[in-house]
Amino acid sequence: MKVEQIETAVEEIHPQVIAWRRHLHAHPELSFEEVETSAYVVEQLQVMEGIEVTRPTKTSVVGRLKGLAGAGKTIAMRADMDALPIQEDVDEPYRSKNDSVMHACGHDGHTSMLLGVAKVLSDARENLVGEYVFLFQHAEEVPPGGAIEMVRAGVLNGVDHVLGMHLWSIEKLGKMQLTVGPMSAASDIFDVKIIGKSGHASAPDDAIDALAIAAQIVSNLQMIVSRSLSPLQSGVLSITRFRSGEAYNVIPQEATFGGSVRALTEEVRETIKEKIEQISDMVAKAHGATIEFHYEYGYDPVYNDETLMPIVEKTLRQFEDLEIEYIEPMLGGEDFSAFSNVVPSCYIGVGALKERDGKYYPHHHPKFEIHEDAFKNGMRYFLSVATTLAQQ
Ligand SMILES: [Zn+2]
Ligand SMILES: [Zn+2]
Repeated sequence: MKVEQIETAVEEIHPQVIAWRRHLHAHPELSFEEVETSAYVVEQLQVMEGIEVTRPTKTSVVGRLKGLAGAGKTIAMRADMDALPIQEDVDEPYRSKNDSVMHACGHDGHTSMLLGVAKVLSDARENLVGEYVFLFQHAEEVPPGGAIEMVRAGVLNGVDHVLGMHLWSIEKLGKMQLTVGPMSAASDIFDVKIIGKSGHASAPDDAIDALAIAAQIVSNLQMIVSRSLSPLQSGVLSITRFRSGEAYNVIPQEATFGGSVRALTEEVRETIKEKIEQISDMVAKAHGATIEFHYEYGYDPVYNDETLMPIVEKTLRQFEDLEIEYIEPMLGGEDFSAFSNVVPSCYIGVGALKERDGKYYPHHHPKFEIHEDAFKNGMRYFLSVATTLAQQ
């Protein structure tokens, strides 16, 4: 689609997108429980001409639209739909009607924008080439996440690229943030249990002190990032829990600690995981104890394809008021990786900062709010990049 055509269509649909967003904002649902949200999305898509609607999982929705002007690539666009277990503290007419559930990450905006994009493309389908797939995804906030379930249900069959985005409440309106390569981190959790031998505090020689051994392991693990990773690679190992012992006069039999691992590549992720187990095991053995190691993989890193990003940048530069910047990867997790692991994809950040009384709030905050004008920029991205890629 041409820029002028996109601008007119986006202006026209914007009030409807705001209305959709406010409805969704008032009726948030938690991850894997998006029953009314997905039904609402189906209802809106069904009245758009040319869109075939399917339900790959219980609470996700997929719309498919064929351009009528000829063959081209198949481009999918993804919006997540879930809310968070947070009591909203924003006084607006559209505030959450559901106690202790709130759209505090902006997924209501993502869903509404993608509905707007579906409507615009449906109206323009006579002149479009290729095919467009609208992925309304459940459960982004809770691993293992909804994206992987949708991929397993076959939603990427025949899809060439997937486009995703996140509205950022902490970035200025008009900002479009691009990254090449990994844009979010793998985020995993782990626990280590040290099993020693209990005894009286006055007779340590008869015991195997799990607490003292665990303390040594915790300090040894600090060597992994500083000594086992290349200084040019990044990774995080944070030990955030430690439990052992109850009494003043008993040497504890067990100690357990755990924490979080973040990495931008599989190599770093696996190095950190292996070293945690190896160091814990060997230090424990040296003192006569044994360990149990539990590691849980979270989301993989989201990967932005190197060949797509220059096309995305060039396409976005057609909108002169947008401020495009390349940023470093973030160390948060995002399950869009389930899509970007399968086909070359692109995921960007869209500034949506809205000040209230001189303040603004981060994602997952009870006072979180987004700027509704940012929906126009999200739609400009989806519409311009998807229709450009469909012609490649
Ligand atoms: Zn979130
Ligand atoms: Zn989010």
